[in-house]
Amino acid sequence: MRPETKALHTLPHDPSTGAVCVPIHQTSTFEQEAPGINKGYDYSRTNNPTRRAFEELLASMESGTRGVAFSSGLAAVDAVLKLLSAGDEIVAVDDIYGGTYRALHTIYNRFGFKVKHVDTSDPGNVLEAITPRTKLVWLETPTNPTLKVSDIRAIASICKASNALLLVDNTFCSPVAQQPLELGADIVLHSITKYIAGHSDVIGGAVVVKDEALGERIKYVQNATGAVLGPQDSWLAIRGTQTLHLRYERISRSAQRIAEWLSTHPEVAGVNYPGLRSHKNHLVARSQCSAFGGVISFWLKDDREGTAVDLVGHTQLITLAESLGGVKSLVCVPCRMTHASVPREARIAAGIQDSLIRLSIGLEHPDDLIGDLEQALAKVTERVTGNTHA
Ligand SMILES: *Cc1c(COP(=O)(O)O)cnc(C)c1O
Repeated sequence: MRPETKALHTLPHDPSTGAVCVPIHQTSTFEQEAPGINKGYDYSRTNNPTRRAFEELLASMESGTRGVAFSSGLAAVDAVLKLLSAGDEIVAVDDIYGGTYRALHTIYNRFGFKVKHVDTSDPGNVLEAITPRTKLVWLETPTNPTLKVSDIRAIASICKASNALLLVDNTFCSPVAQQPLELGADIVLHSITKYIAGHSDVIGGAVVVKDEALGERIKYVQNATGAVLGPQDSWLAIRGTQTLHLRYERISRSAQRIAEWLSTHPEVAGVNYPGLRSHKNHLVARSQCSAFGGVISFWLKDDREGTAVDLVGHTQLITLAESLGGVKSLVCVPCRMTHASVPREARIAAGIQDSLIRLSIGLEHPDDLIGDLEQALAKVTERVTGNTHA
């Protein structure tokens, strides 16, 4: 089955009633027939049927054996990091998600983890950074917000040779566009908050693996530390998954048009989008993803933070907000918002200029979004040249 069919037919109808939707099992505990004898569920931190349904659905979409759903994407990040011990090394993509950076450098640094950030868009940099102490290689592809693409197959073989686990944060692609486990990764991580739930109404995360023993270890960490996705949110995540392919296809088509339009705009200095032929790893992206998603970033010829801040103050349809992957288009200035916790030097080195603007394209008509960007860019340009008509 293809992912869109799996999204609809992985879960059986409810055997007790025939309900075509998974029930929301809003319960903390389950009756036992005798001490230790139950119907597979004893306490909802350990297992809940609605959460379990979502985990099975996502595992099937990612071609994994085990899914574990968490209360946020960062809770999923945290659970994976708890597989490691003091002294272990991690090699991570340089423009890693800001929250993951913060966890690594302000929390896990105190527990004796060593993290090396490299530009993983060249697999040679991973090969150079990896040592016998490297237990985990952490990729995001494409990255946030510079949309760097890394070759999952090439990096998977480097990791295999050196006995390190390869994790791919697949939030930006979603399982309908990219399946890292099929490309050789060991762990797939998601912020469910983004494309999978898809409507800006849920915070959630997940981990999916192929290896059953590894799945057991992650499940053990979750049960021992407690960051589970609630039944309501699991149900919303299931509902989101059913329309994911349609949303993702439409969003990707709109984003391609908008990225091409931005590339020709006289005030725009550069556009990052894996679907553009000008993208450094466009061919790698084409070899591992079937669509390029809705996140675009671009920077202005006038590279002052203030100008970017000005621009996002003028969009009318496109909402100034953090996050991405929902039905409504959003815009943000990463250096002030999503990446405010990354030191400026590290930011600039990773290509996050002061005027970099990130768009998350939603389901509006692309012409309306282009119109909105056009009027906002015109206002900022007027201000820059002093050419106001007020
Ligand atoms: C949002 C995001 C996360 C964190 O997820 P939350 O659900 O916000 O905790 C992790 N990785 C990426 C790539 C993200 O976009």
